[in-house]
Amino acid sequence: MQSFVHETRATRVVFGAGSRQLLPRELDQIGIRRALVLTTPDQVELGQQVAAILGDRCAGVLGSAVMHVPLEVARDAIDAARRLGADGCIAAGGGSTIGLAKAIALESDLPIVALPTTYAGSEMTPLYGITDDGIKKTGRDWRVLPRAVIYDPELTLTLPVALSMTSGMNAIAHAAEALYAQDGNPVYSLMAEEGIRALAHALPRLREAPADMDARGDAQYGTWLCGTVLGNVQMGLHHKLCHTLGGSFNLPHAEVHTVILPYALAYNANAIPQALARIARALDRPQAVAGLHALGQSLGVPRSLRELGMSADALDHAADLAVQTPYPNPRPLERGPIRALLQRAYEGAAPD
Ligand code: NAD
Repeated sequence: MQSFVHETRATRVVFGAGSRQLLPRELDQIGIRRALVLTTPDQVELGQQVAAILGDRCAGVLGSAVMHVPLEVARDAIDAARRLGADGCIAAGGGSTIGLAKAIALESDLPIVALPTTYAGSEMTPLYGITDDGIKKTGRDWRVLPRAVIYDPELTLTLPVALSMTSGMNAIAHAAEALYAQDGNPVYSLMAEEGIRALAHALPRLREAPADMDARGDAQYGTWLCGTVLGNVQMGLHHKLCHTLGGSFNLPHAEVHTVILPYALAYNANAIPQALARIARALDRPQAVAGLHALGQSLGVPRSLRELGMSADALDHAADLAVQTPYPNPRPLERGPIRALLQRAYEGAAPD
C-alpha cells in the first residue's frame, strides 16, 4: 500500500438541470446577503438572469471578466464590490469569470458561489492567476476556492459545440496528469479515472446532440471530478507546456490543452504505465495515447499548434521556456525531446 495524505476541503456542490434557481438557498447557507454577479461581456445576459433570481439580494452585475484576469480589471472589480456593498460574489461563466471572482476573494475574502458554464474546472480549485504587464502570476490560496458550486447543465447549452469539445478535453487533461502526480493518492486517482470516463463518453454524445441535457449533465459531473483533482495535486509537463504556450504566445486555453495532451503523455509514456492503463480503461480504448488522439479526431477538435496560429519560428523559444524552471514530472525534462514534442504537436503528427 502506497503511503499518502488526503485532505478534504469543503466546497458544496449542487447538480441538476435548473439548479441555478437554488441560488438564494445556497447564499443563505453561506450567509451572503448582497452578491455581486460577475460575467464576461458576452455573458451579461446570463448575469441579468442570475440577478432576476436574486432579486434585491443582487448588488449589481459586472460584465468585465476577460481571459487571464488583467490586474486593472481585477482592481476595478474589487472597487466595484466595495462600492456596491457586496458581501459575496457569484461567478457565472467559465475560467475567466471565476478567475475574476478569485482575484476579488484574494483581496477581500468575499466568498464565491460559482455557476460554471464551461468544463475548465476552475470552480473546484484554490488556484488563481492575475496578469500584470503581460506576465501572468499564478498562486494557490484556499481563500479563493468557491464555497458553493452549482452545476446547472442548462447554463452550458449556449456553449458552442467546438468550445464544448475543447473545454471537455481541457478537463480530461487535468485528470490525466493527476494519475501520475507525485502527490497523487488512490482517492484522487479514482476521481481522475471516473472524470475521464464521464467526459470521454459524454463529449461524443454532446457533439451529436448539443442540447442533450443528460450528456451536458454527465460532462459537468466529469468536470467536477477533473477540477477537483486539478485543485489538489501538482500538474506536470502537460500543464506547464500549455501555460507557456497560452501565456507567452497568446494561444487559446482549451484548444492548446486539446492539442498538447497526447504529445505530453507520449513524452512521459515509459515512466507512467499504470496511469496510461487507467486512461485507456476510462476511454474504453486499447491504448491511452492513441486513444486520446482518436477521441480528438472523432470530436473534430484542432489537432496541431499550426492550426491554432502558432508560428514555427516560436518553437525553439517555447522549448527553452518549458525547461527554464524545474517542476515535478515523471520523466526528466530534456530540451531536445521537448523540442521534438513541440514539432510533432505543431505539425499534428502521430504523437508516438
Ligand atoms: P473562458 O471563461 O475564457 O470562456 C471563453 C469564452 O466563452 C468567453 O468569451 C465566454 O464568455 C464564453 N462562454 C463561456 N461559457 C459560455 C456559455 N455557456 N455559452 C456561451 N459562451 C460562453 O474559458 P475557460 O476555458 O472556461 O477558461 C479559461 C481561463 O480559465 C484561462 O485563463 C485559464 O488559465 C483559466 N483556468 C483557471 C483554472 C484554475 O484552476 N485557476 C482552471 C482552468 C482554467
